[in-house]
Amino acid sequence: MSVYLHEEDLPEGVLADGPVAIDTETMGLITPRDRLCLVQISDGKGDEHLVRFAPGSSYAAPNLRAIIADPTRLKLFHFGRFDIAALQHYLGVLAAPVYCTKIASRLTRTYTDRHGLKEIVRELLGFDISKQQQSSDWGSAVLSDAQRDYAASDVRYLHALMAELDLRLAREGRTALAKACFDFLPHRALLDLAGWPEIDIFAHA
Ligand code: MN
Repeated sequence: MSVYLHEEDLPEGVLADGPVAIDTETMGLITPRDRLCLVQISDGKGDEHLVRFAPGSSYAAPNLRAIIADPTRLKLFHFGRFDIAALQHYLGVLAAPVYCTKIASRLTRTYTDRHGLKEIVRELLGFDISKQQQSSDWGSAVLSDAQRDYAASDVRYLHALMAELDLRLAREGRTALAKACFDFLPHRALLDLAGWPEIDIFAHA
């Protein structure tokens, strides 16, 4: 149960086979403007790996890119739309296949409008995670212990959340609908990057 910090790429062979949880930290919410600073990744076995990118990075990261693009490996996100766009923009690789715990939460927890990671981890798993470092300076030369812990906690629970949310999707008869949404999600991220960030192309007007 450790958090590992790496520079510019993930070392080879540190992840077990199977689904990986991924999150990103950036300088802000405007993807082309606000550079990608950190990619967190976990195989769900207890360790989290943080890959940090320096200002002016080439974002070559061949090991990380190979995992993100691997069609045999499911990538788990919470609000993947943002992370997938950031990974596409900076690393030049489109994550697929993907699973998004926020979408699964929206399709099952219809009794609430609270679908933040902190809220669903608390309700479904009974853990309390801090969101205090969410808006901190991820471009800093030195990441604080609090920042590392926060970054790691954003990928720590996604495997367990998927297991619980899959049960609820099955119970409510929405497994296939969720799968269709997950399959579309990388394309939704591409629409964001291509200039349709807030426009609903399915809307009548
Ligand atoms: Mn995060």
